[in-house]
Amino acid sequence: MPRLPLPPSLRVIERGWLNSNQVVMLAPRDNVLVDSGYCTHREETLGLLASRGGLDRQPLERLVNTHCHSDHMGGNAAIASAYGCSITIPAGEAKHVDPWTPQSAWMEEFDQRADPFHFDDTIAAGDTFEGGGFEWQAHAAPGHDMDALMFFEASNRILISGDALWENGMGFVWPEEGVNPYIAAAREALATIERLDPAVVIPGHGEPFADAKGAISRVHERLEAFDRDPSKNARHVVKSMFVFALLDKEMMPVDEVAAYVGRVPCYARLSQRFLGLEPKPLADWLLADLERAGAVAIDGGLARPTMAA
Ligand SMILES: [Zn+2]
Repeated sequence: MPRLPLPPSLRVIERGWLNSNQVVMLAPRDNVLVDSGYCTHREETLGLLASRGGLDRQPLERLVNTHCHSDHMGGNAAIASAYGCSITIPAGEAKHVDPWTPQSAWMEEFDQRADPFHFDDTIAAGDTFEGGGFEWQAHAAPGHDMDALMFFEASNRILISGDALWENGMGFVWPEEGVNPYIAAAREALATIERLDPAVVIPGHGEPFADAKGAISRVHERLEAFDRDPSKNARHVVKSMFVFALLDKEMMPVDEVAAYVGRVPCYARLSQRFLGLEPKPLADWLLADLERAGAVAIDGGLARPTMAA
């Protein structure tokens, strides 16, 4: 499939589902990077960043995050120490990373990791920054992360959407009984995208794509279904979190999955509220469902993820 034409000063390093994509914006003495991947893949991220498809061994002046989840800011510390760049985070995320706690960006709750980092300044909706010779406007992108931002370049109508919109979905939205403020917020972010009418969307995961309208309507359909049935949403979140954990660990013995979902708080919390399953039946359902969907392969007593990290 031919890649969408992007201005030559923009480079997208496409990663997988454990690591967010990296967007490199090239301008003399003012190179900017958006999002840094997951911490355990920091060496791979640094290699890709230095390569010809990235900075091509040029310096990096600034790193900007769309949001502070572990797959988008986990590489911040390694990149800042390799390049001496400054770090800019969404203003609303500052409270999650300063002070840095075991819970920063949900890590204890979800069994994720990130290297602690120091940020230099913040950016809020309505602010702009220079990148690749263009001006990028920050827009609120709440829902998956209530403090997330997305970045829009008006002359080429390019949107860096983070996890607010992918070609086939978006980052999971937390389930709630009754009126769900996260789903309402996600719909607001989609309305903003519709209004911006991007010609190209560079998502946090997956390849850049042109059909924003199609992607938005697919997400609306899913949000409708999640709104009607919070337990469907809870099942989706449990599966997403577990696949992420498998991508991080690369594999897990099948007979340890029940202990794992019993130990990591988010699974019990979701199951108690929405699914009513004890760890063992939860683990059995999870593995069977993910194997049937082709997201996990089970072989020799080991569960492995099938998608790219
Ligand atoms: Zn993400």
